[in-house]
Amino acid sequence: MSAQGAVLVLNAGSSSLKYQLVHPDSGEVVADGIAERIGDRASSITHEQDGRTETDEVSLPDHRAAIERALEFFRAHGTELADAGLAAVGHRVVHGGRSFYEPTVITPEVIAEIERISPLAPLHNPANLVGISAARELLPDVPSVAVFDTAFFHGLPDAAATYAIDRAVAEEHALRRYGFHGTSHDYVSGQVARFLDCPIGEINQIVLHLGNGASASAIAGGAPIDTSMGMTPLEGLVMGTRSGDIDPGLVLHLHRAAGLSVDEIDTLLNKQSGLRGLCGENDFRTITEQIEAGDADARRAYDVYIHRLRRYVGAYLVELGRVDAIAFTAGVGENAASVRADALAGLEHYGIVVDPDRNAVRSREARRISPDDTEVAVLVVPTNEELAIARQSSAVVG
Ligand code: AMP
Repeated sequence: MSAQGAVLVLNAGSSSLKYQLVHPDSGEVVADGIAERIGDRASSITHEQDGRTETDEVSLPDHRAAIERALEFFRAHGTELADAGLAAVGHRVVHGGRSFYEPTVITPEVIAEIERISPLAPLHNPANLVGISAARELLPDVPSVAVFDTAFFHGLPDAAATYAIDRAVAEEHALRRYGFHGTSHDYVSGQVARFLDCPIGEINQIVLHLGNGASASAIAGGAPIDTSMGMTPLEGLVMGTRSGDIDPGLVLHLHRAAGLSVDEIDTLLNKQSGLRGLCGENDFRTITEQIEAGDADARRAYDVYIHRLRRYVGAYLVELGRVDAIAFTAGVGENAASVRADALAGLEHYGIVVDPDRNAVRSREARRISPDDTEVAVLVVPTNEELAIARQSSAVVG
């Protein structure tokens, strides 16, 4: 498959790099891959193209080395990316702060601004920047575009975006609710409208992005009016390793009474909490097996997860007033039928019903899991952040 007009989508994490070469119009994927444990001696890179999967256990000291190795894989498949006529390199950037709310062609000024707002996302934005620099160096003639995870939520109503804290402090430090996973919420809500064959401006929906990270959003006529993640991706739902909502007093207590440093609390809440903190495991498949084997910790972790999810569904039902669709997406949302059933159990009164037979069907297509005649369409809609980034990148470079 030719790479002419395709977009190379890069998602650079602190020690990983995911990439996909995709045609923005057709959605055809030419290749994808992932480099893991970058900077570690035991790094590896896996590349999938032409129906073949190749893994290379090779030292990748930095993101530049990972991209170089990916380019070699492409070369071995007959694609020289530097002169293949790519439309763009599309970068996922986690935090756009108050500066960025549209896909943005990357220039030195844009890089400087992403750097300036990096304190808002110290774990994510610096890694994204490393990926941007490396790609610009290795593919200098291909335009680079940044697509921000916060962008979709830029227009959140003030009441939903504002923390009830001292206004001057909030202003000085840009403290507000930004929301994340925006590319996914945007894409999935668009797919919901397509599935229902209804203009997006006419429907109200709740999107539940349940992956290792998890977030919910309330979208009225295509515009988000609330979302569960806040200033950082730590707020909101119970996640694989993140706590989601907690009493901020708990942070103060951990510091004052338990003597934990800020970095230790950061690690505790981001990496050792959520499902993993509750039962030692963050993969839903394993947790489900453990529950079936009678594991009480796994059961409690599941119950806390569902309790929080239902709390957000309830809040968004009230905020939206009328809900036409509820969509489940991402790893857990697309695959864990029990989560979908339990999240919406007992809501028949609101026109929300999950049909057990439909819910049990496994498919990679968007599908309805509520009966045809209920008021609210409950859907499973696979997300595709790479394709969404490719489309936005290609559109902005014209
Ligand atoms: P994501 O972040 O969207 O890639 O989702 C990753 C998570 O999805 C994993 O940590 C699993 O917990 C969950 N997951 C993936 N496949 C399944 C499955 N077949 N059943 C239940 N959970 C799944």
